[in-house]
Amino acid sequence: MEHVKVLIMGSGPAGYTAAIYTSRANLNPVLYSGIEPGGQLTTTTEVENFPGYPQGISGPEMMEDIRKQAARFGADMRKGIITKIDLSKRPFHVVVDGEHEIEAESLIVATGASAKYLGLPSEAKFRGQGVSACATCDGFFYRKKDVAVVGGGDTACEEATYLASLCRKVYLIVRKPFLRASKAMQERVFNTENIEVLFEHNTVEVLGDDLHGVTGALLRKTDGTERTIEISGFFLAIGHHPNVEVFEGQLELDKEGYIVVEGGSSRTSVEGVFAAGDVKDPHYRQAITAAGSGCIAALDCERFLHR
Ligand code: NDP
Repeated sequence: MEHVKVLIMGSGPAGYTAAIYTSRANLNPVLYSGIEPGGQLTTTTEVENFPGYPQGISGPEMMEDIRKQAARFGADMRKGIITKIDLSKRPFHVVVDGEHEIEAESLIVATGASAKYLGLPSEAKFRGQGVSACATCDGFFYRKKDVAVVGGGDTACEEATYLASLCRKVYLIVRKPFLRASKAMQERVFNTENIEVLFEHNTVEVLGDDLHGVTGALLRKTDGTERTIEISGFFLAIGHHPNVEVFEGQLELDKEGYIVVEGGSSRTSVEGVFAAGDVKDPHYRQAITAAGSGCIAALDCERFLHR
C-alpha cells in the first residue's frame, strides 16, 4: 500500500496553498484534486480582489498559477476523488476512486463548499454569463446595472446591500413572506433605497440570450401572478453545503455541517486531521482567506509531524 506523510484533499486556494507550504517543508505532499479541479474559482470569470494581480486575473488562470507554484516545489498533484476514509486510527486508511489504497500519516481537508443553485436549466445555461453565486466576486461587473439576489438569509441580505452600493437597482427575491436574516441585516435591507424586496416570489426562468447573457427573470408569486424583471445579473444566495460526505460520523461538524476547528487553528476533532478553506468556514468564503487557512493547516500539520 502506498504510504504518504501528508495527504491533501481539494484543489482550491486552500488545498494548493497547503501543498506549497508542505512541499517546501520537504513533507512530499500528495494532493487529490476532487470533483472540481481548481475548486469554485474555476466557475468565476475575473478575480480582482486577490492581492498580487493588479490587473485582475481569470479564476481558472489564477488556480493554474497556484497549482504550478505547488508543482515547482515537488507537490504530487493527482486527479482523483477520495471515496472512503477511515480516521479511527493512524495512519489513516484512504481509498481513492474506489480502488487505490493509501496510508496517510496526516490529512489536510480542503474539500470546500458548494453553492446551492435552484436547479433551473436556464440558470445552468447562464452560469458565468450573468448567473453567479458570489456577489463579492462578481458584483463589480454589474456596476450601474439592475440585478437580482435570490434568498432571504443573512448571505442574501449581505449580498443585496453590497450590490446596492454598486448597482442601480437590486431585487431581493424571497420565497417566504418574511426574511430569515438577523434583524440588523433586515433593517439594512429595508433602509437601502435601491433594494426592492419581492416577498413570496419564486423564479420560474432566468431569461437571456447568447449575446448578452442574462437579461431578465420570470417570477411567479404564491398567488399565481407572474411578472418579468429586467436584470443583467442573477445572484444565488440560498446557502452553501460543505463537502464533508466522506467524513460524516468521523469528524466533529457544526449544525450546518462545517468542520469544527480548534480556535484559530486548523486542528479538527481527530488528531492529525487539519481543515482549511470553505469546508470549515461558513462566514468569509474568499479565495484569500481560504489560501491563508491552507497555510495555517500546513504549518499545523508540519508541527504535528515533527512533534
Ligand atoms: P440560510 O440557510 O440562512 O438562508 C438561505 C435562504 O435561502 C433562506 O431564506 C431560504 O428560504 C432561501 N432558500 C433556500 N432554498 C431556496 C430555494 N430553492 N428557492 C428560494 N429560496 C431558497 O443561508 P445563508 O447563506 O444566508 O446563511 C448561512 C449561515 O451563515 C447562517 O447561519 C447565517 O446566519 C450565517 N451568515 C452570517 C452572516 C453574518 O453574520 N454577517 C453573513 C452570512 C451568513 P427559507 O427561509 O424559505 O428557507
